[in-house]
Amino acid sequence: MFADELKARGWTEGGQQADYSKGSWSICFDTSSWVEVATAANPRTFDVHVPGEYESRWTVNLIEHLCRMEDELVRLRKALSEIRDTSDVGGSAHTTAAKALGCCYHRWLVNMRVSEGRGGRMYCPICGQTAAEPGAAPDPAT
Ligand SMILES: [Zn+2]
Repeated sequence: MFADELKARGWTEGGQQADYSKGSWSICFDTSSWVEVATAANPRTFDVHVPGEYESRWTVNLIEHLCRMEDELVRLRKALSEIRDTSDVGGSAHTTAAKALGCCYHRWLVNMRVSEGRGGRMYCPICGQTAAEPGAAPDPAT
């Protein structure tokens, strides 16, 4: 069973706004047959289908892989930001870091604290860009 597999891998039931958590990773069951997987940096890392008995172990592996990759992405982007923002780094390293940081697939999430149609309503937890609405151009200030 899925819950048994999670517990066997060190996930604990309950906690703040999560059905299961492991360190800074969390899982929330939504109202359908999906779980929302979150990390400290990205509250909607991915939605994963609640597995049947046969797929439970594989699904826990998938969830942990997604969380590790998300943590790795955040850690590497932070390192690139430090290189980009450090003035004593060589020009080509600075340019390479800035160019890499300029690339993002964007995972647009809704910021419920910002009204519809206002700048910052949509945000990307990966690069930090914001936009007023889905599909809109990013806000000019970000
Ligand atoms: Zn982005």
